[in-house]
Amino acid sequence: MNFKLIAEYFDKLEKISSRIQLTTQLAELFKSSDPTIIDKVVYLVQGKLGPDFADIPELGIGEKFLIKACSLSTRVPENEVEELGKKTGDLGQVIFDLKNKEDKNDILSFLGVEKSAKALTVIEVYDTLLKIAMQTGEKSRDMKIGLLAGLLRKATPLEAKFIIRFVEGRLRVGIGDSTIIDALSEAFNGKAELIERAYNLRADLGEIAKIVAEKGDAELSNIKPKIGIPIRPMLGERLQDPAEILNKLGGKALADYKYDGERAQIHKEKDEVKIFSRRMEDITSQYPDVVNMVRSYLTLDNTIVEGEIVAVDKISGEIRPFQELMHRRRKNDIDAAMKEYPVNLFLFDLMFASGEDYTNKPLLERRKLLESSIKNNTDVKIAKYIITDNVDEIRKFFLQAISDGAEGLMLKSIADSSIYQAGARGWLWIKFKKDYQSEMADTVDLVIVGGFYGKGKRGGKLSSLLLASYNPETESFDSVCKVASGFTDEELDMIQGKLGEIKRNSKHPRVNSKLEADVWVEPVYVIEVIGAEITLSPLHTCCFNKFQSDAGLSIRFPRFIRWREDKSPEDATTPQEIMEMYKSQTKRLTQVP
Ligand code: ATP
Repeated sequence: MNFKLIAEYFDKLEKISSRIQLTTQLAELFKSSDPTIIDKVVYLVQGKLGPDFADIPELGIGEKFLIKACSLSTRVPENEVEELGKKTGDLGQVIFDLKNKEDKNDILSFLGVEKSAKALTVIEVYDTLLKIAMQTGEKSRDMKIGLLAGLLRKATPLEAKFIIRFVEGRLRVGIGDSTIIDALSEAFNGKAELIERAYNLRADLGEIAKIVAEKGDAELSNIKPKIGIPIRPMLGERLQDPAEILNKLGGKALADYKYDGERAQIHKEKDEVKIFSRRMEDITSQYPDVVNMVRSYLTLDNTIVEGEIVAVDKISGEIRPFQELMHRRRKNDIDAAMKEYPVNLFLFDLMFASGEDYTNKPLLERRKLLESSIKNNTDVKIAKYIITDNVDEIRKFFLQAISDGAEGLMLKSIADSSIYQAGARGWLWIKFKKDYQSEMADTVDLVIVGGFYGKGKRGGKLSSLLLASYNPETESFDSVCKVASGFTDEELDMIQGKLGEIKRNSKHPRVNSKLEADVWVEPVYVIEVIGAEITLSPLHTCCFNKFQSDAGLSIRFPRFIRWREDKSPEDATTPQEIMEMYKSQTKRLTQVP
């Protein structure tokens, strides 16, 4: 399969904003792809070289070296390439133009003779990019530039343009997971629900695409989780009133402590242990202590369980705040970090055991097996819980959880239908968290989509950020507020640097904003924010026209709390959640005498 096909589709896709058209074009591309390498086509479309958990290193080619590679491959001096890059702000376009010119000047093409160089194949491009990513050590920079220049030399102008776009990380033109799923379903007449379910159980769209393309969707209905491929996590809704929660859960529920640590999905096969984060990244190397605990105390084999890794006090063993875990993460010396910030593991679910899929079994059956599989020890425990039908008991247990250092409770359905809903945020789990003593009952996690320059002391420098919620229905980032407080000047300088690296010439196609930011950025960073209250605002697009025509919802007096490195942009708070918070806040206000 030639890379030309992909480049041509990328060119078409770039010009489309309608999701329906995007899906149709992608489906055509998938249909024309060689099924044996369709996994690689899917990764390339996603702007990646593999699923996130595969831990493939970044390509590691900054702008300067891209310019060098462009120069090497076209023999145009570096400073000229740089100038052109500055003028257009688009190196992809620069290489396209340079190579086009080169082709026109080429004597053979002038005479109408086809070039003899063999066409680039998808595999050649993919393998070379992978090789570039894998280069480490002293000479790696030159090797990377050499490999890229070689690829660009062989490429047609259009191919070169998209190779550059890929390396720059600027390929993502509105293609989210669900668009890919719909396109796969359209291409292979597969049921989208089946593909989605399979993806929820094995979070690797490349692998799923290969199964559908090679074997059809009948094969997908038999799919089980697989050790080594993360399951997409189940998520909960939130409510602030325990009576309402109990009611939603059918009058009786399991109430777990909601620990404030790092979510860990643990895969164990014999002595081989892997830990995946909430974003499904492989974090095994950060927790050698947890790996040992699991080896020593979890008796199940060929199993996938889930829990929260929590920092604990060295002496008392009491739960410590989430921040301590973050301190531990920042330390380079992992042995020292383990000693300084010891952790415990609180398990709360089991999805796979002895090769059997447990995701379709009810919660109590999963918990029973989990509980009977932990040896007596002090490091790995079952999350503390009660099963109750009494609202007062929930209130009491909640206060106990808070005083024990947890964030609140996770209330879970124990009905026969209480399956593990991989990849879904549903009402089988409802979180009941601590009220931060402001009108806003909870913090929100929002994506940075742009920035504004300050005045006075911070003139010409970034001083506030445009933040957005993530709307899974439209796959867009809908603006919610501008945040300017809670940062120190040093933090703002650091943010300026960080955002400088992901700056864009224009608003990202998936960003939905009425405000015109001074600086637009790729929607990649998530931060946690609290505000005084949620209000109606004509300036923001979150829940636009939902409560009042020409108004959306916004956060008043927002304040930065912390970075949420553990969340991807698609994990940010949704407009639906903000709407629920707005409703419950209004309800509470009207209840005040
Ligand atoms: P938050 O921002 O409140 O951490 P979230 O968006 O990460 O929430 P939610 O589904 O809303 O995810 O809340 C569930 C999170 O709570 C899980 O991701 C998990 O890390 C954590 N957690 C702690 N204790 C439990 C528990 N006993 N059961 C389930 N999840 C728990």
